[in-house]
Amino acid sequence: MRALVTGGAGFIGSHLCDYLLAQGDEVIALDNFFTGSKQNIKHLLDHPDFELVRHDIIQPILLEVDQIYHFACPASPVHYQYNPVKTTKTSVMGTINMLGMAKRVRARLMLASTSEVYGDPEVHPQPESYWGKVNPIGIRSCYDEGKRVAETLMMDYHRQNNVDVKIIRIFNTYGPRMAINDGRVVTNFIVQALRNEDITIFGEGRQTRSFQYVDDLILGVSRMMQKEDFIGPVNLGNPVEFTILELAQTVIRLTGSRSKLIYLPLPEDDPTQRKPDISLARNKLNWEPAIRLEDGLKKTIAYFEETLSRGK
Ligand code: NAD
Ligand code: UDP
Repeated sequence: MRALVTGGAGFIGSHLCDYLLAQGDEVIALDNFFTGSKQNIKHLLDHPDFELVRHDIIQPILLEVDQIYHFACPASPVHYQYNPVKTTKTSVMGTINMLGMAKRVRARLMLASTSEVYGDPEVHPQPESYWGKVNPIGIRSCYDEGKRVAETLMMDYHRQNNVDVKIIRIFNTYGPRMAINDGRVVTNFIVQALRNEDITIFGEGRQTRSFQYVDDLILGVSRMMQKEDFIGPVNLGNPVEFTILELAQTVIRLTGSRSKLIYLPLPEDDPTQRKPDISLARNKLNWEPAIRLEDGLKKTIAYFEETLSRGK
């Protein structure tokens, strides 16, 4: 197989490139390096089956591939709110461009959608059948609505042009190669703890998230891409739910940090709870996460320790 990974220099995309190459696929990573980095894929640059293309997916491109893993899009609120118009363009125009390519070369296309399509959910845990509660005009909308339109485009190209599509909805995922400045909660807490700086809890820390280690996700992504006659959308996430306060306490314990907790205002439209219903992934893909939060955090802490010691 020849696979294209858009966002291949990012956190998840780079792990996916590693996995696909280990499976024996040829891989083209496409990235504009907005939030990704060459460092994430440096070890692959001499691999005979790996190619790197610097390109912005809001511009069309034609590549001959069998499968497209469409992951290009900033994912952390700090990054996607930096240039919100560009974020919407990346989701909408980027997905149209990938669909156009998939249509022409008859490739199978997977969209990395998100649990954010459920917004601040009134249904808990969230099954795929829930349509969500998303603010269309708020500061998270460029990301949430962008992904919702991307899902619409995927389904319409499928119905109208018979494009072979797949949609996954990824829940909060963490692990090595997250950008140190990405502002997401796992990165912030680990970096703050390692530096013995105050840990910044937004709100009272009673909001919940369910954290999935990246290796678990990659296995689910691979199962989904190979599965015949199943478009999705399918939730890929770890159903074990934690409050943000619990996460902070766990990180402090695992790092042996002297950090104190400080409480800052909760950002606008911050979802109060989030936990995937993964019955569909269990049934259709025979998949569920295996890595416990503590074990995944230990690996992620080791990564950030090393990154900080290199002065990056
Ligand atoms: P990331 O920011 O590390 O990776 C995104 C990559 O896309 C980066 O390498 C970035 O440079 C690239 N990119 C952004 N805009 C681009 C453009 N216009 N053209 C080309 N490349 C572009 O984030 P991530 O956590 O690895 O997320 C990857 C995908 O997974 C995203 O689509 C995101 O929405 C989705 N996702 C992630 C999570 C999570 O918790 N990490 C949760 C849900 C969905
Ligand atoms: N959060 C926090 N402190 C931080 C960063 C984030 O308390 O330094 C909270 C944030 O308000 C949210 C949760 O942690 O409730 C997860 O935030 P993140 O940005 O990682 O992901 P998302 O909100 O997109 O799920």
